[in-house]
Amino acid sequence: MQNLTAYELAQRIAAREVSAREAAEVANARVEEVEEDVNAFVTTTPELALERAGRVDGRLQGGENGGVRLWETVPTTVKDVLSTRGVRTTCGSRILEDFTPLYDASALLNFGEDLVMVGKANMDEFAMGSSTENSAYRPTRNPWGLGRVPGGSSGGSAAAVAAGEGWWALGTDTGGSVRQPAALCGIVGLKPTYGRVSRHGLIAFGSSLDVIGPMTRDVRDAALLLQAIAGHDPHDSTSANVEVPDYLAELENGVEGLRIGLVTELMDERIDAGVREIVADVANSLEAAGAEVGEASLPHAYYALEAYYIIAPAEVSSNLARFDGVRYGLRVSADGVHEMYRKTREEGFGDEAKRRIMLGTYALSAGYYDAYYAQAQKVRTKIIEDFRAALHRYDVLLSPTSPSVAFELGSKTGDPLAMYLQDICAVPASLAGIPAISVPGGLSDGLPVGVQLMSDHFTEPLLLRAARAAEQVADFEFTLKP
Ligand code: GLN
Repeated sequence: MQNLTAYELAQRIAAREVSAREAAEVANARVEEVEEDVNAFVTTTPELALERAGRVDGRLQGGENGGVRLWETVPTTVKDVLSTRGVRTTCGSRILEDFTPLYDASALLNFGEDLVMVGKANMDEFAMGSSTENSAYRPTRNPWGLGRVPGGSSGGSAAAVAAGEGWWALGTDTGGSVRQPAALCGIVGLKPTYGRVSRHGLIAFGSSLDVIGPMTRDVRDAALLLQAIAGHDPHDSTSANVEVPDYLAELENGVEGLRIGLVTELMDERIDAGVREIVADVANSLEAAGAEVGEASLPHAYYALEAYYIIAPAEVSSNLARFDGVRYGLRVSADGVHEMYRKTREEGFGDEAKRRIMLGTYALSAGYYDAYYAQAQKVRTKIIEDFRAALHRYDVLLSPTSPSVAFELGSKTGDPLAMYLQDICAVPASLAGIPAISVPGGLSDGLPVGVQLMSDHFTEPLLLRAARAAEQVADFEFTLKP
């Protein structure tokens, strides 16, 4: 059972060859076995998983499998930024250490009452970071090399999938946090179109950028998990009222006739040679499989990181204002309300959260707003226009997901800029709001390299189809680590 994909597992459960409860037992046992090394979770929920899996099995007894949908039977890991009713949700922060939500995030509602949840995955505090070392709890380790980071901010989710602690996971992506950890842990990570998945119940980081996405063993699993979480939600005013297609329908159609553009600006010397080599290999193999492959240009991609690191902190400085010791989580008592605010935030937030709040507040302040925030928004528009032109010429764009393979724990914690540079390939698609997916392309120095594919808004069926072909031509096979 351990080596099946989530889709295959769900088929076996639907055929009653195994029960949902047995699958949950396998997931729980794997957590017991590897968690001490991997640290993928802030909170594990083994009893809850068994109880809910038992209920799923009960429903499966009804006619037509009791109407149970495939995804409902699969043990699932949830990033600790998504609200889960009755299960504490820390966001990787001390300030929410004892916070237990009263409702589930809307993205989870298609699992009904019976989401077979293995646990809440570790993450960088409030999803700010690229290594999961900004967690207020403990760092997660990369199952491919326990001395290395799993990437971030959804590093716990990525490590859990790579290690087989649950069959798949949900992450969130503001500027690469699903794709980059997926790349570093040798799994698939999909950032859907902005607005495709409801953000209601997702603790906000950058509200104009945040998207919830699947982190899975292969592309078919990503399609199935997207099917479960996509849809319109009146509780999120930015959620799109666009019909949800069948994400599995076109998956196996191959790349014959597809136009694929390799992004020149994301294949320069800022990217490690070993990474570039694998991306180029995948491009060549896709051409051999019948795609038309050429060079694409996103001239303003060079400014994407700078724009992102103004816009995202600006939004965070506003979003984190709600953690004031009154409404949620931690309160440190002091004389007078202002002193209480100050002490609560001083003790509750870690260094990176404070850094971002200060950067964002500065960029939005009178006298600097035009020079920073307004300028960054203009760059964002330029990037959107670049993508529009490139996606007129090509169906899908190709690039690395991350400039390097998984780096050593502690090697970038003292240098925020070096950490931010991890995101150069991921942030352009975030600023444009288009869907992007990372698939394992092969190994460099024995560590996984992610290949990123991007396409136009709401064209996930096309993107998944191209990604399915890419994973099939790639020299990589999913196997459980460590
Ligand atoms: N690493 C980026 C950041 O620190 C992206 C984080 C994310 O996508 N949540 O902001």
